[in-house]
Amino acid sequence: MDPQTMPNAAKLKFWGVRGSTPTVERDAWRYGGNTSCLELTAPGGGRFILDCGSGLRMLGKQLRTAVHGSLDTPRISGMDAQVLVTHYHWDHIQGMPFFHPFFHEQNRFNFYSFRSKQLGRDSLRQVLEAQLASPYFPVDVGKMTAERHFHEISGGDSWDSKGTRITAAWLNHPQGCLGYRLDTAAGTIVYATDNEPGVPEFDRNLLALAEGADALIYDSQYSPEQLATTRRGWGHSTWLEGVKIARQAKVKNLILFHHDPESSSRTVDGFLYAARQEFPATWAAMEGMCVTLIERGVEVTLPESRMGRRRWVRLAATVSGQSEDGTPFEERAAVRDLSLLGAFLSLNRRPMLQSELRVVIQTAGDAESTAPLSLRATVVRCEPGRDANEHGVGVVFIEEAEPDTPED
Ligand SMILES: [Zn+2]
Ligand SMILES: [Zn+2]
Repeated sequence: MDPQTMPNAAKLKFWGVRGSTPTVERDAWRYGGNTSCLELTAPGGGRFILDCGSGLRMLGKQLRTAVHGSLDTPRISGMDAQVLVTHYHWDHIQGMPFFHPFFHEQNRFNFYSFRSKQLGRDSLRQVLEAQLASPYFPVDVGKMTAERHFHEISGGDSWDSKGTRITAAWLNHPQGCLGYRLDTAAGTIVYATDNEPGVPEFDRNLLALAEGADALIYDSQYSPEQLATTRRGWGHSTWLEGVKIARQAKVKNLILFHHDPESSSRTVDGFLYAARQEFPATWAAMEGMCVTLIERGVEVTLPESRMGRRRWVRLAATVSGQSEDGTPFEERAAVRDLSLLGAFLSLNRRPMLQSELRVVIQTAGDAESTAPLSLRATVVRCEPGRDANEHGVGVVFIEEAEPDTPED
């Protein structure tokens, strides 16, 4: 959604969904490995960045390519945004030194967070500047030339910006954490991460903050079993607590967030499916996920979730699954493209490691409606086969450009 084409919509995009520390494990790729960062574009032109985890770098990169088409050309300028920081743990601030728009003087940022007991006055400014101090970072803070204003806020504070009302509330987390509610003309988004349930004062804060929200983004780092045992007191929550709050506060959509660095994509799948049994309008935050608030409701899309290397194919398939209303189905379908990582082959010749191969897979069916699957691949493994003339060859497929004329 482009705010120019849908001026009455609010668009929320997830740039980082992971808690505690970025992850690069392969089994976590599907949901993404960057730490907390969300971007909200509100009707009326308000622009908000919620937390500055490592996902912030991705947002900066996208802004540069969106404006100039290339990372090598001059940077975006004239950006004006409010940066709402929940607290000062690394996973919520570590993207700051890597956000290009901070290094451009035409840009303007208003930062909001609380006065930390440990840091005192101007906590957020200190946190930002300390990250660029020697010997932790090679670039001097003087190079960060964007106009920066720092605002100290506290739980219970509210302010308005370009037609959006922002409200902050204290959550239960070591060294403190603020949750934020953003009431836009298109609907309400509540960002409540890094919160452990069970302290009445904070539980009440959260409930009031989340009341009637169109989308509640909630800390779902652990399983209910972990929270009850080994992770008690660590300052986080579960999908089950999220479901309870969503019901009590009459939230329309629940978005599980702040995935544990130890959680594989399958683990997060499990939390999502369990939550949906109790509260069907549940989603699991994924890097690139967009939540659009429009007059008729909330639309969730995953425009960038197919990270794999794609191949355009024409294959017939039988697909079975569950439709939106929960009923199972099975039908004949056409496969238009495939996203594959690689294959394992038996060859008579032993190819050189890291050399290129082309693999053509014959497909069944009549020649009119199907075409062979032709793939370029790089060799990543060679091992002896069953006899002297056979080699087991592992390959990873290479990206190919999209064909000029799309398949019909
Ligand atoms: Zn965190
Ligand atoms: Zn934290």
